[in-house]
Amino acid sequence: MLYHSTNNTSYRVDLKEAILRSLPPDNGLYMPDSLPVLGDEFWQNWRDLSFQEIGIAVADAFFGTDVPAAALREIVDGTLTFDAPLVTLSPGDHILELFHGPTLAFKDFGARFMARLMAWLTRDENRLLTVLVATSGDTGGAVASAFHNVPGTRVVILYPKGKVSGLQEKQLTALGGNITALEINGSFDDCQALVKSAFLDRELSENLNLTSANSINLARLVPQSFYYIHAARQLPEGVKPVFVIPSGNFGNLTAGLLAMKLGLPVEHFIAATNRNDVVPEFLNTGTYTPRPSVATISNAMDVGSPSNFVRMQALFGGSWQDMKSTISGMWFSDDLTRAAIREVKSVYDYKIDPHSAVGWLAARTWRGAHPCSTTITLETAHPAKFPDVMEAELGQGSVEIPERLAILANREKVAIQMSTDQAAFREWLLASNSSAR
Ligand SMILES: *Cc1c(COP(=O)(O)O)cnc(C)c1O
Repeated sequence: MLYHSTNNTSYRVDLKEAILRSLPPDNGLYMPDSLPVLGDEFWQNWRDLSFQEIGIAVADAFFGTDVPAAALREIVDGTLTFDAPLVTLSPGDHILELFHGPTLAFKDFGARFMARLMAWLTRDENRLLTVLVATSGDTGGAVASAFHNVPGTRVVILYPKGKVSGLQEKQLTALGGNITALEINGSFDDCQALVKSAFLDRELSENLNLTSANSINLARLVPQSFYYIHAARQLPEGVKPVFVIPSGNFGNLTAGLLAMKLGLPVEHFIAATNRNDVVPEFLNTGTYTPRPSVATISNAMDVGSPSNFVRMQALFGGSWQDMKSTISGMWFSDDLTRAAIREVKSVYDYKIDPHSAVGWLAARTWRGAHPCSTTITLETAHPAKFPDVMEAELGQGSVEIPERLAILANREKVAIQMSTDQAAFREWLLASNSSAR
């Protein structure tokens, strides 16, 4: 399969280039040249398949021409080491829990799959693949966890000294093995500037086999479509779900559209956002106006210029009419979100994080207007990731930190101290690469 840029469909590259480079040089995003469809053989018995079997079939539909079946099976099995259970709050009101992975957010699915696919794509090179990331907190943790112990890879994380939370720092510094943390005596922007200087240094970039594990990498979208199919098959036969997706960069929603293109029966999609409502506004008015983001309590959705919007447009051939007949948009304020967190706890005895609370509000609004419909709201993160908001609404000590995260808190922090000097950073990268081999 070849992949083209959304900016120029005649700019085509192979799978390895699309995944290891993440982005085409023209600043578009990669899309598969033809969108795969799963055949009757799959849809005749899809409801009886396991999560892993669904993942293998979907991965094969996208990557089967480039990656042998046995390797894909290993990549999928290594990714899906935890479940995505469907929880029912009341009839027709379902929540898909996507936070059972190591870093407590749905991004674990995409990051783990990408890490394994990258390792496979570089398996014949006798050089390590070095993943460089600058982080202000969460992204670095998800990438580090995803690549931890993946053979043939190492991760170098740059984070600003004193500017990430204690638990976040442990996620970056306590894993050990092929994960190295550099504590930079500077800001997040300084960290980004160092990473950028390494990528612009062609000799360094090629010698060290650098890659960026960018969040808009196509390899992160495909595994996110697995759980749409896995969720829908848990409903009674014949019930078509309305999927509600709390959104920021719209990768998760795009993955849902890919699942629909694969043949999954879906009633409708709802794009739920906080006050950063660029996409709901577009769906309602036809006018797309990206703008600077504003801060909210669902901060992973504070995006004013969503990167996957161009992929959504491509999937509807640029037609606003077609997009809005499949997707509706809604946004909710922080005050309503806080009230929803309290209501879901008091009525259903369920603790919902601020991002998923936005989704739950959209689902309820939709069911109010369409009483026969069945909604599945994607729960994008575990509430323990947002202790300040949860405790403000539900009281002190109201959310326990899951064991898998709490364990890290007692581990030792190991970080290499570094200044913002580019030459020193370059030297360290080269020296550490030869000793890591
Ligand atoms: C990243 C993230 C989102 C937004 O997902 P997109 O795919 O960027 O739309 C929503 N909630 C949480 C908790 C996230 O981490």
